[in-house]
Amino acid sequence: MPANPPSFALTGAILFTGEAFVENQALLVQGDTILDLCPASKIPDGFEPVAVDHGILTAGYIDCQVNGGGNVLLNNDPTAEGVLKIAAAHRKTGTTSLLPTCITDGPDKIKAAIEAVAAARQADPSVLGIHVEGPHINEAYQGTHNAAFVRPMTDEDLALYHPVKDSVFLLTLAPEKVSPAQIKQLVAQGVIVSMGHTNATAEQVYAALGAGARAVTHLFNRMPPITSRTPSLTGIALDCVDCWAGLIADDVHVAQELVRLAVRAKQGDKLFMVSDSLSPAGADDPQPFDWNGIKVFPNEKVCVNEQGVIAGAILTLGQCVPVAIRDIRLDPAQVLRMASTIPAAFLGKGDSLGKLLPGYKADIVALDHGFNAKRVWKNGVEQ
Ligand SMILES: [Zn+2]
Repeated sequence: MPANPPSFALTGAILFTGEAFVENQALLVQGDTILDLCPASKIPDGFEPVAVDHGILTAGYIDCQVNGGGNVLLNNDPTAEGVLKIAAAHRKTGTTSLLPTCITDGPDKIKAAIEAVAAARQADPSVLGIHVEGPHINEAYQGTHNAAFVRPMTDEDLALYHPVKDSVFLLTLAPEKVSPAQIKQLVAQGVIVSMGHTNATAEQVYAALGAGARAVTHLFNRMPPITSRTPSLTGIALDCVDCWAGLIADDVHVAQELVRLAVRAKQGDKLFMVSDSLSPAGADDPQPFDWNGIKVFPNEKVCVNEQGVIAGAILTLGQCVPVAIRDIRLDPAQVLRMASTIPAAFLGKGDSLGKLLPGYKADIVALDHGFNAKRVWKNGVEQ
């Protein structure tokens, strides 16, 4: 990792600030913070020019759903070392902040994952906190989660779910499997509650929203579809202006038409991209792995089981960005916002992460003209 001067100016690129593309501006970085933007011809003394010619600079990506990376799956290796390997693997393609995600598992495993993520956060500021997805979900919509570990939420579980200091604790649950009082208690403890792997009725969804649930996990996947008189969680998430939604935009998990429909429905706001990626993501040599007793194999676009059926995602968020622009044909500014600015706001970090503006953390990705990540800075340090 090249050493950085304490103050430097990134020059020669188009900047996407999180709000607009701007040209002929240099980005001034001082320590771990963006000091300012200035005309390329007026870089102040003391700032060493660093050329990123013919590229695009954008804010580092923020991935709220990362099961694994670098051939490490959090559920299979719930240790601080495992979490650090996952974060490092994703950082190479621009993910400068993430929530390692522990899916449905036994109580001891979930507790170990929570402790591992808290320990890793001390060593790596990329780790914003944890996403616990399950185990309080609907077995009929479990997907690749292990039904043996699906269970009601106990008082012990409730006590375990809370953020440490300024970290994030995101919990995905099925509204029909918990009470609104439990959701209220979680929210009071600082947990961000998201709905997923669910067959909840509209009434149950609205009750959960009323109790403080704020989001939907991987919109369209593992929830009932919209029908004429049954909006289901999918329709409510698209309609409700206050509801956030994560979406897997790898061009495998959700049909292109539905991705574009969701972007239009959410009016460019409150819809963010997640990778939901498994252990081979970001690995130099992606390896097959065991998951809940099944063998999973990586290929170019997705992970599959022995029968070739989709078993989960492999693209990092930084690899989803060019796919969403080139293949799904979304507006580039919208995609960059969905990979950084919008998830930052969702996690309550919208005043420090997700934009290239004065006072924001110097988490920066340099992209080529195909929107592929080429260089990455975390807290002002090139990775
Ligand atoms: Zn899921």
